[in-house]
Amino acid sequence: MALNELEFNFPEAELVKQTEICKNCKNIVVGKGNINARILFVGEAPGKNEDEQGIPFCGAAGKNLDKLLESVGLSLEDIYIANILKCRPPENRDPSIEEIKMHTPWLVKQIKEMKPSIICSLGNYATKFFLSNGEVEIMEKQPGITSLHGKIKELNFQGEEIKLIPLFHPAAIIYNQRLKSLWEEDIEIVKKEIPQKNLF
Ligand code: URA
Repeated sequence: MALNELEFNFPEAELVKQTEICKNCKNIVVGKGNINARILFVGEAPGKNEDEQGIPFCGAAGKNLDKLLESVGLSLEDIYIANILKCRPPENRDPSIEEIKMHTPWLVKQIKEMKPSIICSLGNYATKFFLSNGEVEIMEKQPGITSLHGKIKELNFQGEEIKLIPLFHPAAIIYNQRLKSLWEEDIEIVKKEIPQKNLF
C-alpha cells in the first residue's frame, strides 16, 4: 500500500488505488509547484526516486527539467508539474492502457481545478493523451513527439481551452544528447507564450 494512500479519499483517487501498481508503490505522486499557476507540465510516470519521495521529477530527469526551466527564468512558483500515472510502474515499464484509464481521471480533476492556459506535455504519453482529448483508446493513433515537439496546438481539452506545447521528455535528453539543442529551442517557444510577469 502506498504510504500516503489514506490522505486521498475521493472517487478519482479510489480508481488509482484499485490498480496493481498502486498496491505495490511506496507513494502516490500527486504533483508539485503552484496549483494556481497558468502553466502545467505533464510527464509520464514516477520513477524510483519519485516513488520514494512522493514528489514528481526529483531524480535525474528532474535535474534536466530544473535546468531547462531555470534557463528561461521559470520556477516552481510559475508552474505545476504532474504525471499521467500517479504511481510508479515496476522497473519503470511503459504505462498500460488500463493504468492510463484508471489514473488520468485524477489528472483531469487537477486540470479542471487549475485551469491552466498552457500545458507542456513531456514525451509521447502525455502528448498523445491530450491530443486524444483523454480518450485513451485512440492515443496510439496520434502522431509522436518527434514530429510535434515545439509546435503549439490550440485545443479544447474536455471543455478547457488550452495551448498544448509538446516537449521531449527530460529523460530522453539523458540518453540522446542530440535532442538537447532542440529542447532548448522548444522551451523558448514556451517562454514566448507566457504572459509577461513582474514588468513593474
Ligand atoms: N519521469 C516522469 O515522467 N515523471 C516523473 O515524475 C519522473 C520521471
